[in-house]
Amino acid sequence: MSRYAEFYRRSIETPEAFWAEQAELIDWKTPPRQILDTTRAPFVHWFAGGTTNLCHNAVDRHLATRGDQPALIAVSTETGTERSYSFKELHAEVQRVAASLKELGVGKGDRVLIYMPMIPEAAFTMLACARLGAIHCVVFGGFASASLASRIEDATPKVVVSADAGSRGGKVIAYKPLLDEAIRLSMHKPDAVLLFDRGLAPMDLSEGRDHLAAPLVEKHRDAQVPCTWLDATDISYTIYTSGTTGRPKGVQRDTGGYAVALAASMKHIFDGRAGETYFSTSDIGWVVGHSYIVYGPLIAGMATLMYEGLPTQGLDRQPDGGIWWQLVEKYKVTVMFSAPTAVRVLKKQDPALLKKYDLSSLRALFLAGEPLDEPTARWISEGLGVPIIDNYWQTESGWPILTVANGVETTRSKFGSPGVPMYGYKVKILHESTGEELTAPNEKGVVVIEGPTPPGFMQTVWRDDERFVDTYWKTVPGKLVYSTFDWGIRDEDGYYYILGRTDDVINVAGHRLGTREIEESISGHAKVAEVAVVGVADALKGQVAMAFVVPRDGAVLGDAQAALALEGEVMKQVADQLGALARPARVHFVGALPKTRSGKLLRRAIQAVCEGRDPGDLTTIEDPGALQQIRQTLSPQG
Ligand code: AMP
Repeated sequence: MSRYAEFYRRSIETPEAFWAEQAELIDWKTPPRQILDTTRAPFVHWFAGGTTNLCHNAVDRHLATRGDQPALIAVSTETGTERSYSFKELHAEVQRVAASLKELGVGKGDRVLIYMPMIPEAAFTMLACARLGAIHCVVFGGFASASLASRIEDATPKVVVSADAGSRGGKVIAYKPLLDEAIRLSMHKPDAVLLFDRGLAPMDLSEGRDHLAAPLVEKHRDAQVPCTWLDATDISYTIYTSGTTGRPKGVQRDTGGYAVALAASMKHIFDGRAGETYFSTSDIGWVVGHSYIVYGPLIAGMATLMYEGLPTQGLDRQPDGGIWWQLVEKYKVTVMFSAPTAVRVLKKQDPALLKKYDLSSLRALFLAGEPLDEPTARWISEGLGVPIIDNYWQTESGWPILTVANGVETTRSKFGSPGVPMYGYKVKILHESTGEELTAPNEKGVVVIEGPTPPGFMQTVWRDDERFVDTYWKTVPGKLVYSTFDWGIRDEDGYYYILGRTDDVINVAGHRLGTREIEESISGHAKVAEVAVVGVADALKGQVAMAFVVPRDGAVLGDAQAALALEGEVMKQVADQLGALARPARVHFVGALPKTRSGKLLRRAIQAVCEGRDPGDLTTIEDPGALQQIRQTLSPQG
C-alpha cells in the first residue's frame, strides 16, 4: 500500500486516532475532551471540550520563535503600495483593531460583517474578530447593495467594518454609498460602522453610527487584548454562498476543527513551511481567502502575500503581465494558489514574461474554484516547470476534498482531474435518481460525501439547521449523504473528474453565483415579465451568465433599438443590485420561455441550446416553439 493510501485508510477507519494526531499541529489552551462526536449526525462535533483561538494560532504563538519574520505582505498595484508586517507588527495591528471593536461593543458571539477591499486592515479585522471570539462574516467587496443587504439581514451584525473604496484596474469603486444603501434596505441595522479611509473616495458619515477607524485605532495604539479562549465547537465565522434559491446560505464554521484542518492541509497538501512565503491571488471575500490568504499560511508560520489588483498591472500602475512572477521572485514565494481563469488571462500575455524572473523558489502552483482545462494546465506547467496542482472543494468544505497530498507522498497528477479523495473525506459517486453507489470506473453520477465530515467542514447553515439537513443531506432517497451538487466520474485509478453542477449554480471566473439571485434581480425590473438565467461555457471565464427575458411590452421584440436600450437597463440593474460579477454577458428578448407542462423552467435545455448541444429529452415541454425561438435569437441571423 502506498504511503498516502495508508494515511487515507487510517483517516477513514480510525478517525479519532488520526485527527487526535493532527490536533497536535495547533496550540490548545485546554486539550479536547472528545475528538469526535456524531450523536447528532449529520451534525458533527470535533474536538469538543478543547479550548483554543484562531488568532492565537495564526499570530501569537509565532511571536517567540519568529516575531521579526514577515507575516503579512500587502501589495496593491491599484494604489502602487507595498507593505510588510512582521508577526510582532501584525500582533500589534490586530490588537488595535480588536480594542476598537471592543469599544464599539463587540464581544464573544457577536457578528461583525466585513465589507472591505484587499487591504491589510481587512485581515487585521478578521483576526481581531477571531481574537475576541466574535463571528466574522466577510462579504466580497465586488457585491453591491442588494446582495449586501440580504447578508446584513441574515447575519444581524452588531458592527459593520468597511472602507471608503475599492479599486479595480484603476477604477475606484466607492463602497460607502453601497453600504449605506444596503443598511437602508436591510431590516436589521448595525449599531456601528467602522470605516477605514484610504483617501480614494469621499464618505458621508452618519452621526452616531459611523466611526472613522484611524482615530480609534490610534487611541488603542498600545492596546493589549488577550485572546478569548473558545470551545473548539464555537463558531469562528460564517460566509455566504449561492445555492438553488435566491436566498444565500450562511455557511457556518467552527473554531478548533477549522484550525486543525488548516494546519493539517498546510502540511500534507500544500507542503508549506514556516518562514516561507505563500501567495494566494484570491480575495478575502471567498473561502479561499479565509483559508489560504488569512488563516492557513499564518497558522503554518508562513508569510502571506495579500494582493490587490489585476494580474496584468504593475506597481507603477502600467500594464505588466509579469507582476505576479515579479512578486514570486521578490518575496521568494514557495507556494502559490490561484484560479484557472487567472491563468487563462495570463496566457494571453507575452510568454517571455514567465522567463524574465527567477522563479526557482516556487515549488508548486495550486489551482481551484472551477474546472482546470488541459491546455491551460499544460501551458502553465511548461512555463513554470513546477507541479500544477488542481484541487477541488467548496465554500462548504473549507479545504480541499479532492487533490493530491504531496506533503504525505509525491503523487502523480492527471490533467483534467483534481485528484483523489483527501484524508477524512469518504467520497462516493451515486446514481442520480436511485442513489445507488456507482463503483465501476467512468460511470457518471453525483459526487457525495458520507459522514462524518472531517474537521473544518461546515457545521450547519447559520441559524437554520433544518435548511442544512434538507439542502445538503436529503437529496438522495433513503440515504443520509452530503451532496456536493457536482457531477463526477472516477477512473480506474481512483482519480475523480468533475463534470459541472447538478443545480442552478454557475461558476463565473471561479466565482459561484446562483442563477436564481440574478433572475430575482432582473424580474424586479418594471419592463420585465419573465426571465431565465443560465450559465453558458466561455473560453476565458469558464462560464458566463446569459439572460432570456420576456418583455412586458411585446413591441421590444421587433425593435432592435428598444431591445438594446432595455438590455443596457437590465444589465445595469443587476450590476447595481448584485455587483458587476453577476451582470449577464447578454440579455436576449423572447416571446416565451421553454417550460414543462407543470410550469417549471427548462433551464438546462436553454443552456444546451446556448452551447450548441442537444437539449435532451423534451417530452415534458409545454411549447417547443419557445426553445426554437431561443435558437433563432442566438443565431447570427436571429
Ligand atoms: P465555491 O463554493 O465558490 O468554492 O464553488 C465550489 C464549486 O466550484 C464546486 O462545487 C465545483 O462546482 C466548482 N469547483 C471548485 N473547484 C473545482 C475544481 N478544481 N474542478 C472543478 N470544479 C471545481
